[in-house]
Amino acid sequence: MERKEIAIIGGGPAGLMAAEVLSRSDHAVTVYEAMPTAARKFLLAGKSGLNITHSEDYRDFATRFGDASARLRPGLDAFTPRDVRVWAAGLDAETFVGSSGRVFPKAMKASPLLRAWLRRLEAQGVRLLTRHRWSGFAENGYIFDTPEGKTVVRCDAALLALGGASWPRLGSDAAWMPLLRARGVPISDFRPANCGFDVAWSEIFRERFAGQPLKGVTATSDAGTVSGEFVVTRHGIEGSLVYAHAASLRDRLDRDGTAALLLDLTPGRTAGRLARDLARQDRKASFSNRLRKGAGLDPVKAALLRELSPEAARAAAEQLAAEIKALPLPVLATRPIAEAISSAGGIRLDAIDDRYMLKALPGLFAAGEMLDWEAPTGGYLLTACLAMGRAAARGVEAWLADSLR
Ligand SMILES: Cc1cc2nc3c(=O)[nH]c(=O)nc-3n(C[C@H](O)[C@H](O)[C@H](O)COP(=O)(O)OP(=O)(O)OC[C@H]3O[C@@H](n4cnc5c(N)ncnc54)[C@H](O)[C@@H]3O)c2cc1C
Repeated sequence: MERKEIAIIGGGPAGLMAAEVLSRSDHAVTVYEAMPTAARKFLLAGKSGLNITHSEDYRDFATRFGDASARLRPGLDAFTPRDVRVWAAGLDAETFVGSSGRVFPKAMKASPLLRAWLRRLEAQGVRLLTRHRWSGFAENGYIFDTPEGKTVVRCDAALLALGGASWPRLGSDAAWMPLLRARGVPISDFRPANCGFDVAWSEIFRERFAGQPLKGVTATSDAGTVSGEFVVTRHGIEGSLVYAHAASLRDRLDRDGTAALLLDLTPGRTAGRLARDLARQDRKASFSNRLRKGAGLDPVKAALLRELSPEAARAAAEQLAAEIKALPLPVLATRPIAEAISSAGGIRLDAIDDRYMLKALPGLFAAGEMLDWEAPTGGYLLTACLAMGRAAARGVEAWLADSLR
């Protein structure tokens, strides 16, 4: 095929993957990135080890994207978690499977992988223009704000990979939404995903326990029952167990105005056994001691029980056991989207065709977190962004080939 000019706007994982694929086909590929360096969120993800994919059975993996699972499936089939690991190894970032089934590079960070990736892209002829912020449409082109002023880029095809709306200071600030809405692209408002929640802690509880983890608990919501841990914060709760329930708590808050996580503070013990163990305790011992010896509750769990159920100290053993096994933790609101790991919302999936091209704007493609899908933490986000970057790149190739016919 004749060499085509392709603009990729946004230098995160989705955009860089699209650049990798398209530059292999010998197109002239330029990545325009608003920030002074590319892939800042990817680097931040590396701070917690860079959970790049998940090792669970692929049939389960492919269902983790909720309503969007079927739509994402062809892209994921073409770049599976196994392919992610092979790809990372090709960039000298061998991976391993952690105890939870999550997959991480052995280096437990993103920077070596990103450096190798950028080197590969450069070797394949990709131009990376940083400090180039896409700010609108021009006649047959795209306007960019640069340190030298505005510039208009004309190209044969363009691909947007501008990210979602969490952590805007890393570059993905969703400022593109009005630009596309004005062109008739249907976009759902962004909402926090994999986020913390506000809880109405008492001053005493907040001062004493903010920063402390609750380990070995299970939590139930509309999303089901999940074991794990979370952290008490000054505002409320954060952490992997909370993120696992975040979408269902958020949706229930939106629907009903109230939502709660149902906690089991002693998952290893049945209510009957716990009631017997508590009944054996000396009634004259302090409540904390009865909880520690009878139920194995550490100080933060005991304090949480008191915080959420002030009458618990007076309850009979059976009642107390029932509360420890099913303690409602009401949440007030999601934490702000700027703090969330990821976002839900974005360009609606029915606004793009099978090639990831915007139906309203032929020749313009979109991929990654700026599309309306969400997934839990566990490597699903990065895998899907990489897979979508590839799928959209193949879409660009198919469209360019068609337009030559
Ligand atoms: C703290 C944290 C930890 C995370 N950890 C993990 C993890 O372990 N595993 C996992 O799977 N996911 C993780 N994620 C999520 C993951 O990083 C994102 O889902 C992923 O980076 C999204 O990729 P993307 O390419 O779609 O968008 P982004 O990575 O957001 O990249 C979009 C790029 O577009 C640029 N841009 C935006 N607007 C413009 C514009 N107008 N003009 C030009 N450029 C623009 C931005 O500067 C940015 O570089 C984490 C996220 C956070 C915040």
